[in-house]
Amino acid sequence: MNAAVSQPIVVRTTCPYCGVGCGVLAAPDGIGGASISGDPAHPANFGRLCSKGSALDETLALEQRLLHPMMRQADDSLVRVSWNIALDAVARRLRAIVDRDGPGAIAFYLSGQLLTEDYYVANKLMKGFIGSSNVDTNSRLCMASSVAGHKRAFGADTVPGIYRDIDEADLIVLVGSNAAWCHPVLYQRMIAARQRRGARLIVIDPRRTATAKDADLFLPIAPGMDSALFCGLLVALADAQALDHAFIDRHTTAFAEALGRARDIAADVAATARATALEAAAVGRFFELFRGTDRVVTCFSQGVNQSAQGTDKVNAIINVHLATGRIGRPGSAPLSLTGQPNAMGGREVGGLANQLAAHMGFSSAETDRVRRFWGAPRIAASEGLKAVDMFTAIERGTVKALWVMATNPAVSLPRAGTMRAALSKLELFVVSENVVSNDTVAAGAQVLLPAAAWGEKDGTVTNSERRISRQRAFLPAPGETRPDWWIVSEVARRLGFGAAFDYRRPADIFREHAALSAFENGGHRDFDIGALATLSDAAYDGLQPVMWPVRAGETQCERRFFATGDFFTPDHRARFVAPQAPRPHAATSDVFPLRLNTGRVRDQWHTMTRTAMSPRLCAHSPQPFVEIHPDDAQAAGLADGGLAKVTTQYGSATLKVFCHAGQQRGSIFAPIHWSDATATQARVCDLVAAATDPISGQPELKATPARVEPASFGYRGFALLRRPVTLPEGTWFARLAVTGGAGVLFATNEPPAMWHDLVRRLLPEGAELAAYSDRARGVGRFGFFRSGRFDGCFFIGPAHRPPQWDAMRSLFESGAVAAPARRIVFAGRDADATVEAGPLICACFGVRLSAIRDVVAAGGAASVADIGRALRAGTNCGSCLPELRDIVEGVAQSV
Ligand code: SF4
Repeated sequence: MNAAVSQPIVVRTTCPYCGVGCGVLAAPDGIGGASISGDPAHPANFGRLCSKGSALDETLALEQRLLHPMMRQADDSLVRVSWNIALDAVARRLRAIVDRDGPGAIAFYLSGQLLTEDYYVANKLMKGFIGSSNVDTNSRLCMASSVAGHKRAFGADTVPGIYRDIDEADLIVLVGSNAAWCHPVLYQRMIAARQRRGARLIVIDPRRTATAKDADLFLPIAPGMDSALFCGLLVALADAQALDHAFIDRHTTAFAEALGRARDIAADVAATARATALEAAAVGRFFELFRGTDRVVTCFSQGVNQSAQGTDKVNAIINVHLATGRIGRPGSAPLSLTGQPNAMGGREVGGLANQLAAHMGFSSAETDRVRRFWGAPRIAASEGLKAVDMFTAIERGTVKALWVMATNPAVSLPRAGTMRAALSKLELFVVSENVVSNDTVAAGAQVLLPAAAWGEKDGTVTNSERRISRQRAFLPAPGETRPDWWIVSEVARRLGFGAAFDYRRPADIFREHAALSAFENGGHRDFDIGALATLSDAAYDGLQPVMWPVRAGETQCERRFFATGDFFTPDHRARFVAPQAPRPHAATSDVFPLRLNTGRVRDQWHTMTRTAMSPRLCAHSPQPFVEIHPDDAQAAGLADGGLAKVTTQYGSATLKVFCHAGQQRGSIFAPIHWSDATATQARVCDLVAAATDPISGQPELKATPARVEPASFGYRGFALLRRPVTLPEGTWFARLAVTGGAGVLFATNEPPAMWHDLVRRLLPEGAELAAYSDRARGVGRFGFFRSGRFDGCFFIGPAHRPPQWDAMRSLFESGAVAAPARRIVFAGRDADATVEAGPLICACFGVRLSAIRDVVAAGGAASVADIGRALRAGTNCGSCLPELRDIVEGVAQSV
């Protein structure tokens, strides 16, 4: 028989999360889902995906999606409207505000999640046609200090190195980067380089992170002292005659000033050790390794950037690479790791308030050039408001209209609570979004515009090594969702600029973007993709990952910058920058004796609007937490696993306590992911000060004075339900996805007498209730059963001995018959056990902490490889390998 077997269609696309920019193969299943795997042909990941990328298939459901335009009514309700009504309203009200108050009263707040084409159109409308530069982006919170540092040193925002440098380095220095969790696939590449060629890994971070565990040398630096360390390194290299004077003389300026300032800050190893609170021997070892290794890559990320002195830190790092000529050669470069999938694309189009377009700024020659290219009638002539200033202007009432695209500033900005309150002052507040409700929408958005999401939209993104990749649609756009570029173009048309926004497809926009990059360039600007300006639609559809620059007439190649100078300054020489002496952060005090550092966890992304849909990803760190040194916890009366109230002068949050000796005394760490949509009282950015770097405008998110104290709740418990619920006011809770429904972990002071009422409200319609309660012990267990099957439950117990949910959760997730669940409700044996299965360590194979510990304790695994053989944990994406190593050594990092 010759029956034809149809092959599933496989679409090559790019991961929507971090700046590594991994290639993804998506095979749609025809019913709204897709199977996901890494693209072996993509040069960023060669087939690997981390836990987040691997779980993309669990994030495609439509339940939370905004599918139709909506407008807020006088009674505060949101009502579905047609696209025409919504777009007309946006254009009409924008026009009225511009006519009355001028273009400076309008602001766009964009996102590193947008595609380059979306970004380009939004930036062009605002800067070229509305006439305001108030276009900023959440990338301001992520890597603006790297941009500013690059521009100061190189004359342009140029990333000199490429990922292949990591493969070819003999020393990899990670500064302020928990790459094992935040750039996992690139991190696995670093580990591979270590195994293959013996490259050594140095990690510089105040926290002993998952990344630090793999380091050959870990430097637990005092918070904020990175530039002192690199100043000390510059001095040490100079004193050891280890500088490349030929490179310095031929290709740079201002070296003497930089070295002089470095001597003032950190004159020798001892002074460096004092400034950084590191052991002198460790400082000396770092200096020695750097001096003695020709091929060095220094990777830096948010620990450097998210600082009120972030730009100086970046330049202190770049200084040592310039001074030793370790730049632009194989295995030698400073390499900024961008956080977001298209932070780099946003920089290319000019999506920051201090850029105009295509790596051009606001000089009169540049504005004139872009004006002529765009045919722009009222091009903005100067920089606009950066993110924090933009929201402060909203607070003051000088910005009256805001359009937010693809981001959630009500959660992620510093002083987020205050910023959120300020949004109510806006006359016009437009949000283009994927989800029907997030904290920014809930803050009073007046017009909601449903945007196409990952898997539905089509365009390009650029990763940390300047590689442009296609994000391709593999699912139909649901409901009335539209691409962001279409939405912006329709508003532009209604404002009377239709001729300049007459795009029919993303390829039209990309060609224009590429042509602008090459327009009157002549090799003077780093960003030039002129060779792509004439791509046909078919060639754009089939575009392979390509690294810029790709100038017209040149063969495409992977180019490093600056090995032979040719910097983008007027004299083509790089600038050494003399950094300011590191300033103390806002002082701690008796009231706020600790310092709050913020960051991310392994399996969540930003404010969780996508990753919180995945049961696998929610299982690793199921609750918002604060990490604290055990001695500080004891001093504050906190118990590991208990709840703490964390307070700063800006607000407070209630978080689970995770005692960890890798946390420095005097510092605490809390992840930024949880919002009102996923938890209560857990918005960490509410607590963060809004001090910014004077050059980059990037806020300091890692050093706010804080205090901790026990959060007093009498009872804790969990609920498992088929539909998400909201628990009564006064209950602390975190929601998470579990297979087949929603889980809620909560704490309350509701007395046992009230529990039955609460449970009856949660009881699914038509379900039968089985209840056990022991008021004297403060224990309640309630099971919900329908048609002979287990349909959910509510378990509660005393706060010092909360019920464990592992047994009930696996029954719930498996859709089990009623009997075993009834046994646990009435006998309570599994639920009251003190040993829990623990967090999910290996997301790929669903392996939990207790299973791994059991194998190790039973002598079945003495190494990570043994664990892999016994349980498969760690044998796929590798994101959990640092934790597995930790468990083998007897210490668990996960919460
Ligand atoms: S490392 Fe993970 S999150 Fe980042 S792009 Fe790759 S798969 Fe996506």
